[in-house]
Order: sequence, then C-alpha cells, then structure tokens
Amino acid sequence: MVTLRDKSKAETNFIDPDYLRSLLDGAAPSQSEIDAVINKALDLKGLSLPEAAVLLKADDEVSMGKLLKAAEYIKQEIYGKRLVLFAPLYTGNKCCNNCTYCAFRASNKGLKRIVLNMDQIKSEVEHILRQGHKRILLICGESKDNDTDYMMEAIRTTYAVSEAKGNVRRINVELAPMEVDEFAKLKTGNIGTYVCFQETYDPELYKKYHPSGPKADYQYRLNVMDRAMLGGLDDIGIGALFGLGDYRFDTLGMIRHAEHLEEVFGCGPHTVSVPRIEPAQNAPDALAVPDRVTDEEFKKIIAILRVSLPYTGIILSTREAEKLRNELFRYGISQISAASRTNPGAYSEEADSEDYDASQFALGDHRTLDEVVSHLIDGEYIPSFCTGCYRKGRVGQDFMDMAKPGLIKQFCMPNGIFTFMEYLYDYASPGTKEKGLKLVEKMVSEDPDPAKVKRMREVMDKITAGERDLYY
Ligand code: SF4
Repeated sequence: MVTLRDKSKAETNFIDPDYLRSLLDGAAPSQSEIDAVINKALDLKGLSLPEAAVLLKADDEVSMGKLLKAAEYIKQEIYGKRLVLFAPLYTGNKCCNNCTYCAFRASNKGLKRIVLNMDQIKSEVEHILRQGHKRILLICGESKDNDTDYMMEAIRTTYAVSEAKGNVRRINVELAPMEVDEFAKLKTGNIGTYVCFQETYDPELYKKYHPSGPKADYQYRLNVMDRAMLGGLDDIGIGALFGLGDYRFDTLGMIRHAEHLEEVFGCGPHTVSVPRIEPAQNAPDALAVPDRVTDEEFKKIIAILRVSLPYTGIILSTREAEKLRNELFRYGISQISAASRTNPGAYSEEADSEDYDASQFALGDHRTLDEVVSHLIDGEYIPSFCTGCYRKGRVGQDFMDMAKPGLIKQFCMPNGIFTFMEYLYDYASPGTKEKGLKLVEKMVSEDPDPAKVKRMREVMDKITAGERDLYY
C-alpha cells in the first residue's frame, strides 16, 4: 500500500542539477571519508545523496575493493544467493518518439514495424512458458496502436494463456508515461511492477536525446511515478540508460528519485534498472555512444546503488555479456532477464529470432534459459521464478516494511527454492536437473533454522510428488 505523506511535493521537479553537480565537484575524498561512508553502509540503512557522492568520486583501487566487498556483503545479507528470472515480451515496435539511441525511433525507416495481435501475443506467451518462465515483462514503443486499452487486453490475454505445466503468474509492464486515471485503469489489470526509465536525469542532455514526440517533455516523464502512485500503483521500477551522460550524475539522479518517492509516498521504487547503451539499427547515439561506461565503472555504479538503496532490487538486462553478468550478480544484481528477444514475435518465429531489423537493440547474451540456469547453479545461485509476494499482497510499502528487518530471506529464499524445484522437474535438461536438485539439498541442509527447514521440507515433498504453485 502507498501512503501519501506529502502531497505538496508530488509532481514537482525534484532534480536540482546544480546541487547534484556540486556534490560531484572538487577533489577526490580522503580514505577516512570513504571508509566512514562504507562503514555506515554496512548498517543496511542506505546512504544519503552526499554520502553516495563520496563513493562516486572515489576511484582508487583500494576504495573500489572496499566498496565491492561492502556491496557483496549487503547483497548476501539481504537477498542471499537468489536471482529472480524473467522474460521480456515485446508486443510492438511502433513508436512516435525519436530517441537517438533506439532502433524503434520514428525516423528509423529501416525497421520492420509490428504490433502483435492477441493471437500472436498468445503464441509468444506459450513459447516463453515452455522455456519455464513464470514472470513476463510486457514492453512496447509508444504508439496509438498500443494504447492503454490495447495493453489491458494484452495483459488479460497473457494471464489467460494456459500451457500444460502452468501459466504466467505475474506480469510487469514497461509502458510510456500516462495520466493518473489511466494508471488507475492499469491497476485493475493485476500487474506487478510498472516500469519506466528516465534515461538521463540531466535536463539538457535529455532534450538533446529526445528531440520529438511526447517523450521530449522531461518534466512529464520525471513525474511519471508520482502519477502512477497517485493512480494507486504501489510497485514501480525506475532506471537510467548509461552511456548518455556522466554516469555519476545519473546514479545520483536515481538515488534522488528514490528519495523523492519515499518523501512523498513513504515508499521508494521496488526496482532500479541499469541498462547500458547497445548497438541499435539507425540510432546514431547507440552506434557511437556519447559517454561510454566502462565495465569497471559499471561495477561501481551497481555497487553504489546496492549500498545506497539496499532494499531496492537491481535489474540487469540481457544486454550484458555473460562473463560480466556473473561478476555483477555478486555486487548487487537481484533480477535478470534470460533467453530474451527484443523483436516482437521472435519467440514464436525461431528462424527470425536474431532479426536485427526488428529489434530494439543487439543482445550480448544469447544463451537459452536452461544454459543460464545451469550456469547460475555452478555459481551456487538459486534461480527464482517466485511471484509469492505479489500474490500475497506484500508489495509497495508493505514489502519494504517486511524487507527492512531482513525477512526477504525468510520468505524469498524458501519460495525461490520451491519455484526452482518446479523448473527442475518440469523444464530442465537432465544434467541441469541433477545438479540443481543437489544444490537445493545443500542449501536446505546448511540452513541453521530447524523450524524453517521442517516447514520447507514439507512443501518440497509435495513438489516432488507433483503439486505445483506452492508458496508462503
Ligand atoms: Fe520509442 Fe522507447 Fe525507443 Fe524512445 S526508447 S524511440 S520511446 S521505444
């Protein structure tokens, strides 16, 4: 539930670029300043903007080592070794905007334009379900062909698909900003998280990269989550596209955005996303990235978000290559997309699944879901398909209240293990199944809480016997 704490601050401009820049100005902080901030972060209460800025300004090797270690500790303390998996479903690539880094931009005449009809969406969902996914992110460009009514129908269609071994348990949506009453309508569709990225919080750069279309309005987009929450949505996901400007500014922008939502609604974002620009057809700023973020800088961004917003999930997309993704899991990533396609209709049309001519951007990770799961098992991560909190109503502020005393592990780890076992029995290859079940046994037998283990084993026995969709 969302509580409106301070209506006077809702829909205001909460980004002060001069203030954010002033925090980043000046000499690198001393080692004692950096240590003080890192020690504070270890209390798991998050960091203020000036404290996050200290870490953003630090770039010597010793400080980075300490930061990564702190992020790894916090990730482990709050989330344990669990990673949530989902699949994006692109329903259309028509778009009236002209973002200079995106292949869907209106002026890209080389792109094959498609908006899926409900039969095509059904077919896509069936293919995604057959891989073993349970969570879908519906996503599309901004067009009158996929307005709120279309998306409501797409949501109903997606939930209604029933495959032999189950159905979609949770839909998140990534849609263009809308008005409060449209968000209220969207809420009736039983969605999980509403996602929309600011791309860059720098108003000048924003103007440059968004030359036309409704998205050119910086302020309207900046306040999208205020309107979503006023419309009754309690789970929202923010994000920035790294490579457009100074990564330090946009990291502070996201932290400020979270702070603003907390001030106004008593609840920050459920997730932050950290995509980096990837090559995209006829998109000048994707083909020559204006301010490329290196792998080392990217690790730093994720670690700083992890220590600054400890209870906010961090999502990594398929854009990143396998080796780097594996490293980033340790420092804070809690959700990943897997076996994704970014062109509408691609799950059903395997022959065209690498069709660059209809995709939003090029993918860095082409593994199947079974390969991703197998790799996670090797790193002793539990791949989770859990949707328990959403279906039990533990969302928004309630989720945060539950998460803060460290209860994520109490609920999420057992529920994650149950959904992982379902995946292993229903979809995994024989090799993945064998080593996955061994990992489950190891995790459960090492748990120091006998009452929790007893409760878990009761559910696990039912899953082994064929029962499905069990969660606390
Ligand atoms: Fe359209 Fe989104 Fe691409 Fe911009 S980023 S052109 S709004 S699909």
